[in-house]
Amino acid sequence: MSVRALPRLRNAGPTSAQTARYRCPTRKGAREGNQRGWGIGLARRGCRVTTPAVSLVGVSKHFGDVVAVDGVSLEVQDGEFFSLLGPSGSGKTTCLRMIAGFEEPTAGTVLLHGADVTGQAPYQRDVNTVFQDYALFPHMTVAENVGYGPMVRGAAKDERARRVGEALDMVHLGAMGDRKPGQLSGGQRQRVALARALINRPRVILLDEPLGALDLKLRHAMQIELKSIQRDVGITFVYVTHDQEEALNMSDRLAVFNHGRIEQVGPPQEVYETPHTAFVAGFVGVSNVVSANLAEALTGRADAFTVRPEKISLHVSGAPVTDPSTCDVSGTVVDVIYLGMFTRYAIEVGHDTTLEVVRQNLDAPHRERGLLGATVHLQWARESCRYLSEGSTEEHQGGKK
Ligand code: ADP
Ligand code: MG
Repeated sequence: MSVRALPRLRNAGPTSAQTARYRCPTRKGAREGNQRGWGIGLARRGCRVTTPAVSLVGVSKHFGDVVAVDGVSLEVQDGEFFSLLGPSGSGKTTCLRMIAGFEEPTAGTVLLHGADVTGQAPYQRDVNTVFQDYALFPHMTVAENVGYGPMVRGAAKDERARRVGEALDMVHLGAMGDRKPGQLSGGQRQRVALARALINRPRVILLDEPLGALDLKLRHAMQIELKSIQRDVGITFVYVTHDQEEALNMSDRLAVFNHGRIEQVGPPQEVYETPHTAFVAGFVGVSNVVSANLAEALTGRADAFTVRPEKISLHVSGAPVTDPSTCDVSGTVVDVIYLGMFTRYAIEVGHDTTLEVVRQNLDAPHRERGLLGATVHLQWARESCRYLSEGSTEEHQGGKK
């Protein structure tokens, strides 16, 4: 297998401070990927941070009066699985299309591996896009679809066949080369679309809601597989999704979009556990925002905060806790939703605030329903309160499952 010439590094590498800031998520995958000839550079660089694979600097896009993207700046590191997460219409696709070169920014700069590509055509950029609708040629076989890019670039027939075989093996479709797209399931068509991007060995693959058309079970299976392929090849993935669970599952880091802007960037755990704004708290999980008034009564600090449902314990009897490290509030159970593994409760605690609590169904579910209308105590550790920054108090429920 011929190994792709690795890109020359522009500079000697990061300072030790830069290196320490970023822990490479795909070290093992990149190493294996390089051994297979697919790797892109992380291993060679010892996983140190160098120039970001993708940088957006103050990028905006206006369509007439519509501000689709509003001053977005972000950096995606080489080898990262990076998600753009947000509700419909928040500017994710437009950002991806500006990285691909299908849209030109109204303002700002797009860089790929440090080079300004803002004015470049899509074919001049070392990126490939996987679209949600797959965009396969229906009259061509799977092998011809996958080999289309190398064919256009003039690769010899033998070389093409070898690379098609490799790419199809990568997505576990080795035996399906002679089929037409119409003879494949949705999941298989999605794999063909991915193989068609992988065969070009771009340094960055852009994926726009690639699993959106699949049913839930297949989507979960493909999430695991996509992530594993990405680890194997070590290519940077920029992944658009409106599905918070998908973004949490798959990403090394994610950016939460709202109205064309980024509200927060970070690893999944950080974004979920420490949302900076009410919007992020509500979109990535359940918001449970406690207003400043109630916050003052509970904690002595008059700032709105959020607390995740799984951090709250629900007590049907017993006295309130007065321990200063614990928040305790009483309320009325106004809704009980049985969800199989767990039950979700809504408890009205006054001050126009309803908190959601989840409890694992350790007992028989019919007992849980009996709590409707009951007065209960909610308790959580004060350290679970996440104070929200001012300016963004807009709640969003769209990310809930
Ligand atoms: P997302 O992918 O997050 O759903 P988009 O980037 O597709 O969002 O769209 C962001 C906003 O820009 C939306 O309001 C959308 O209607 C608008 N928009 C996107 N593309 C165009 C276009 N070609 N012309 C006019 N408005 C557009
Ligand atoms: Mg979109």
